[in-house]
Amino acid sequence: MNSQQDGDTCLEFPENAKPAIVAALNIWSTVLNSPVPIRVSVCWARLDARTLAQAGPTDFVENGNILRPVALANALAGRDILPNSTDIEVTINSTALWHLDPQNPIPAAQSTTHFDLTTNLLHELAHGFGFFSTEEAGAGIALWGNGSLNSPYDTFLQDANGNALTNRAVYPNNSLALLNAFRSNQVVFNGAQARAANAGRPVSIHSPSPYEEGSSISHVAEAVFGRDINNINRLMSPRAFWGDRNHNPGPIAIAMLRDIGWGTVPVPVTPPGVAVLRAPNGVATATPTYQWNAVLNAADYLLRVTNSSTNAVVFQQWVMASAAACQTAVCSYKPTLTLPIGSYRWQVQARGAGGTGALSTAMNFTIRPTTVPPASTPSYPTGTITNRSPAFTWSAANTAADYYLQIINRTTGAALYQAWVTNAQAGCATGTVCRFSRTLSVGNYMWRIMPRNVVGNGPASAYLNFTVQ
Ligand SMILES: [Zn+2]
Repeated sequence: MNSQQDGDTCLEFPENAKPAIVAALNIWSTVLNSPVPIRVSVCWARLDARTLAQAGPTDFVENGNILRPVALANALAGRDILPNSTDIEVTINSTALWHLDPQNPIPAAQSTTHFDLTTNLLHELAHGFGFFSTEEAGAGIALWGNGSLNSPYDTFLQDANGNALTNRAVYPNNSLALLNAFRSNQVVFNGAQARAANAGRPVSIHSPSPYEEGSSISHVAEAVFGRDINNINRLMSPRAFWGDRNHNPGPIAIAMLRDIGWGTVPVPVTPPGVAVLRAPNGVATATPTYQWNAVLNAADYLLRVTNSSTNAVVFQQWVMASAAACQTAVCSYKPTLTLPIGSYRWQVQARGAGGTGALSTAMNFTIRPTTVPPASTPSYPTGTITNRSPAFTWSAANTAADYYLQIINRTTGAALYQAWVTNAQAGCATGTVCRFSRTLSVGNYMWRIMPRNVVGNGPASAYLNFTVQ
């Protein structure tokens, strides 16, 4: 079923584009606090070729002449002011060439044709959070939105002389003066946090001449931030780079969002949710990489690995979300830890400013040997013994699961015993030797031992001779 968003027909959403969206949302969730969930509606639609994606708030909350995007208004109020409505609408151009994989870089062969979807969504979502001006330009005039309303962002805009562009005494609404300001190349955003992030200076805003509809005023200056693919603050410049995979909103954009109100949103007081584990699961290597889904508002995670046989905790450590690259939606952490062969379970617990969440459901994994066990050495009985129930004793072989014990009467050649003896039957797990008692009659014997594991049989030992008197 197709739906409509902002006049565009939404096509069926491609399944393989979803991880990029989740990744973009997760990155912002580590930057912005909201005690109220932010609902984002994403539409996949044919847009004109010059537009990669577009976004904005679905609704606004008016207070005086300030028009707050609903996501920000909700966050500041600590409640959902417009329940049952989405907060941000994003429309993605289905005809653009997208790199959909948020985990990996754009392949070199696509570096001049493809755009990274997560990068573009990060940009668009910022507009939805309030990184936008309400300004419009008409014939020889400019005006503020919806009659004469301003966004919180607008209130930080200034000209070269420090006049607020929202000062109607200097810049009347519907005036050429306001249009001239918008195309002066001199507009700055002068918020305290933005200045602090920009070496003490107000941030240059995109204000070229001629005025560029859709780009002017609502972006940082292309000429200052947007021409170097390595500029850490390039995300909110008006044009996207082909081949640019930039999953960092940049300190200036974050500071500007804080200035417009996100910096005063109360820190959430609820603990983060429960992590869903991904890997290792089943057979694993001795040095697994642990992967779990990132949890909203988690600053760090407890990773605990337990030996399933002994219930001993073999690893337990708090891992910073950044150290596990959780901004990519899937946390991934490889501790310096080599596990011996055995069965394990692991769990994760998320912790954030609101407290510590519940421990996740455990996931099980097994570390199996990769080679057959080494030889085992029989040590007793040997020579002449009088005990008719000797404990056959041999060295435990690393990685062996069981042992083939063969006892042969040297006179008749008959096998008195030949069978697999498990580690448990021979008590091998508790020490470095295995012991297994058999009752024999008087006679001459020889015996040997051969270890085995899931990979196969290890070498058989040489025979040891003994006589029972
Ligand atoms: Zn934009």
